[in-house]
Amino acid sequence: MAKFKSSAIDCGVVEAVQTQAFDVVVIGGGPAGMAAALAAHKAGARVAIVEREQHLGGILRQCIHPGFGLSHFKQELTGPEYAQRFIDQVHATDIALFLNSMVIGVDSGEPTEDTAVHTVTLMSPAGMLQLTGRAVVLAMGCRERTRSEIKIPGSRPAGVFTAGLAQRYINIENLKPGSRAVILGSGDIGLIMARRCTLEGISVEGVYELMPYANGLRRNVKNCLDDFGIPLHLSATVTRVIGHDRVEAVEVSQVDEHLAPIPGTERIVPCDTLLLSVGLIPENELSVAAGVELDPHTRGAVVDQSLQTGVPGIFACGNVLHVHDLADNVTTESERAGAAAAAYVLGGGAETDAVADTGCELTVFPAGIAGYALPGRITAVALTKLNFRVRRPVDTARVRILADGEELFAGKVRAFKPSVMESFPLPAKVIKQALDLGASKIVLSVDPIEEA
Ligand SMILES: Cc1cc2nc3c(=O)[nH]c(=O)nc-3n(C[C@H](O)[C@H](O)[C@H](O)COP(=O)(O)OP(=O)(O)OC[C@H]3O[C@@H](n4cnc5c(N)ncnc54)[C@H](O)[C@@H]3O)c2cc1C
Repeated sequence: MAKFKSSAIDCGVVEAVQTQAFDVVVIGGGPAGMAAALAAHKAGARVAIVEREQHLGGILRQCIHPGFGLSHFKQELTGPEYAQRFIDQVHATDIALFLNSMVIGVDSGEPTEDTAVHTVTLMSPAGMLQLTGRAVVLAMGCRERTRSEIKIPGSRPAGVFTAGLAQRYINIENLKPGSRAVILGSGDIGLIMARRCTLEGISVEGVYELMPYANGLRRNVKNCLDDFGIPLHLSATVTRVIGHDRVEAVEVSQVDEHLAPIPGTERIVPCDTLLLSVGLIPENELSVAAGVELDPHTRGAVVDQSLQTGVPGIFACGNVLHVHDLADNVTTESERAGAAAAAYVLGGGAETDAVADTGCELTVFPAGIAGYALPGRITAVALTKLNFRVRRPVDTARVRILADGEELFAGKVRAFKPSVMESFPLPAKVIKQALDLGASKIVLSVDPIEEA
């Protein structure tokens, strides 16, 4: 299948870059990439997965705690066990694997060409290779925010790690990051690392959270902090790192309702390690270079109901699209993206379970306390899964769908938490109503209801 295409001209020497052709090229071999590849393969597409690490599995290889698979396999698994189930399925197929291979570019030709072939360029120790695909699935996951992104003042000693890096050190490299840790941020990775450090004999002085509520799942607060007697300090942050060669202490302060440190509340907490769990950023540099538009709310691609980006034939799923709290949800979403990519290539357009309506072009906006709404575009009149996350916890609120100021749908009153990614089935008839009103956008609003 391999053919040769002359390309790079360097110092007068014409080098041949090997090219291999596929129907669907998946970038990233984590749970998102594997689920998308398996779904595309099941639909009859010739599929390749490109993964920069030497192994499939993505970040789950280092998540050795249980809590995975409860909805997908109806069984509690660790991260590596969950990943292995998909690795085994991939190995049982003829999906081509390019491991230890870093994708450095996606070239989509003319953006207006519906039938464009995308060229994915990758580098591996064997050299450069190009894969062509009539569809590409972006599944590159996300990375952690670092100290420089939240600008913690103070000196710059060793001992400041992102929580995920410390997780890798302990669980994969068998290295101990320190002896006495403070954790900033109560996202799930921070909570899980508080427990992991304790189990490894690292004393955890406390978890400090800027917001007045914990950011991780309730079950993680209970299982990782409460059960181990680790204190959670809300409305507090690290205002200074102290130490020369190694962290010696951190200064923590209470914050006010505007999240600004309150003078006079400073306290010195001795420690040799500061772990940061302060957010994840979808890895979209490749997507942007390929011409994919990003949503400023999710920092992932703007997609339609079949998870296709604005560049025809490029789909996105998993953490590169929006940050998920549960890998099971990543799998479900990515199966949809893989099936849609195969349908795009093999016929029937990008729609899998939707009835395409050429007249349908609606933009979806979040409102109220909804932080984002996904998909950002709807191009078919069909039952559409909307995902969203709220920006603050509320005990009583309702989801409303509006078009041209008119309420088309109102959900039940219930509680919402920012740690939980919500999903909402938008009925086809609501989309039709919006179109009948002549609307070009619909609004997903989550509105708190004031207690009497
Ligand atoms: C540090 C960290 C710890 C986490 N811990 C937990 C946890 O304990 N529990 C939990 O439920 N969830 C956890 N998550 C969330 C978890 O990431 C998701 O549930 C899920 O793994 C996301 O799957 P994914 O395939 O989208 O991304 P990932 O699992 O991150 O996989 C993305 C893959 O893409 C590859 N890749 C990226 N760019 C390129 C490129 N240019 N070329 C080739 N390959 C590329 C990466 O190497 C990686 O293997 C964690 C996330 C992070 C970042």
